[in-house]
Amino acid sequence: MDFRAILEEIYTEAKALPAIGTVASTIPELAKINPDKFGMHLTTIDGQDFGIGDSEEKFSIQSVSKALTVAYAFSILGEKVWERVGVEPSGNPFNSLVQLEYEKGIPRNPFINAGALVIADILITHLKNPKQELLNFIRTLSGFETINFNEEVAKSEKDTGFRNAALCNFLKSFGNIHNDVDEVLDFYFHQCSLEMTCKELAHSFFFFANEGKTRNGNQILSQSQVKRLNALMQTCGFYDESGEFTYRVGLPGKSGIGGGIGALFPKNFAVATWSPRLNEKGNSELGMYALEQLTTKTGMSIF
Ligand code: GLU
Repeated sequence: MDFRAILEEIYTEAKALPAIGTVASTIPELAKINPDKFGMHLTTIDGQDFGIGDSEEKFSIQSVSKALTVAYAFSILGEKVWERVGVEPSGNPFNSLVQLEYEKGIPRNPFINAGALVIADILITHLKNPKQELLNFIRTLSGFETINFNEEVAKSEKDTGFRNAALCNFLKSFGNIHNDVDEVLDFYFHQCSLEMTCKELAHSFFFFANEGKTRNGNQILSQSQVKRLNALMQTCGFYDESGEFTYRVGLPGKSGIGGGIGALFPKNFAVATWSPRLNEKGNSELGMYALEQLTTKTGMSIF
């Protein structure tokens, strides 16, 4: 398969499309990003590795980080993770409060904000230096020592994160946050502020495609565990548009409001896209288009 030619074709077609969607406005620091950036990077199990467009420019991975933090928590606690967070699609916006009340503080899945806050709490309980150890974990996953938090983005989100603060306090009232609320929020805002290039993100997602093993040969999770997380990304990875993404693209993945998407085809490739213009559900318009074209042109999707 000549992936390079296919990526180039997708890039040319995508750049010719009219610009649709708007940059995330909920975090002031993110609203400053040039909306017309577009990059894509693909890395295959058999060693092909290349990107197009702005694929080497850093962006804020935001909620894509939730796929990586749940992997970290799963690697530490195994199945016990699911005692505090579920594995069902929510069908509600990512920052919704409503389900939590009638589900007694157990978030539907680790990719809505409530679920990610519980995962953050689990990591804080189990790690000595939570933020540094998260960075180390992500550097091991990706093989890039250059990955870091963006302190301005973390602060910008802290200054405006009233809904996340409400979620965290609400979870705490049900006993599903064990640490100090401010510490959990600080960790969560930092994980969302992680910056990566498409190349770094595709490499970070490689282990999901490679039966739990990174490009550098570190076994992070078992084959069965990555199957489970891939299933969760497939059913819950794209907010309340996970069905649409599955229908159009047919790959497990995770999106973020910074306009990034990490996705993968098990035993074949990991891919990342970045384009900051979002549709109404908060997913990258061009990223979804590019991934739909990738699976359509190659015929490579899990369906
Ligand atoms: N930090 C963002 C928030 O919690 C993440 C949103 C996202 O990327 O879905 O609102």
